[in-house]
Amino acid sequence: VTDDRLERCPDPSVLAAFIEGALEEGSFREVKIHAADCSECAMVIAESVRFVTRERPRVARFRTNRSLWRWVAAVAALSAFAILWFVTARDPLERLKRLAADTGARPGEGRLDGFAYTPYVAQRSARSAVGDLSMEVEVNRLVQSGGTDARALHARGVALLYAGDRKGGRRLLALATGRDPRNPVLWSDLAAAEIADPSGDGSLALVAAEHAIALSPALAAAHFNRAVALERLGRRAEAATEYARAVELDPSSRWSAEARKNIARMSD
Ligand SMILES: [Zn+2]
Repeated sequence: VTDDRLERCPDPSVLAAFIEGALEEGSFREVKIHAADCSECAMVIAESVRFVTRERPRVARFRTNRSLWRWVAAVAALSAFAILWFVTARDPLERLKRLAADTGARPGEGRLDGFAYTPYVAQRSARSAVGDLSMEVEVNRLVQSGGTDARALHARGVALLYAGDRKGGRRLLALATGRDPRNPVLWSDLAAAEIADPSGDGSLALVAAEHAIALSPALAAAHFNRAVALERLGRRAEAATEYARAVELDPSSRWSAEARKNIARMSD
């Protein structure tokens, strides 16, 4: 076992990932072996798990960005508080977002907030792209993750969309908006889920996107989704105007390149 033994206590971010089950098998084993011998880490892990399980729904949502997160990782002392901060502050979809950026396909024509642009491919190719296996593992992990607060339901709903279960994804995202109805991202992602369901005519997606815009007028993803919904409803002139609004809010992203293409198509 000495080969796998860690020299020092793992970083708070690593312990947080351990608690969330987000570590690769090798690192997971290393931390497990370390914690078996280190009463401090064992206590921190046990306390964090206990606290998170009990208190998570009541812990405020934090918005983090990667550089802030790195900074905190560098200065955070190894303490239950630091671990707790990482576990509660981290976006449960962070890893999926990173992996999805490389797979080259998105689960519907809509735009999930916070996801990098990837093209929409109506018929998913049978050819597996690099990264697909890790993507599948992460999607399964999220689908099986627990929690009934808005953030947990949202993460599971988005994972279901990636798993190809559009009805399940819609259902969980609708539940998430019920739990936290003032959260524009939940409404915008619900619109994307409605769009992903080919049996929908766009009217529910339109309602959800308009809710999101009412709560956060500058949310580019919501405008993109509203445009797709309008297009599906055959309201092409309004759709073109709405795509233009999405471009205005997010001019340099590849989402806007697609929006511009759609505007051109609308004027054909
Ligand atoms: Zn330790």
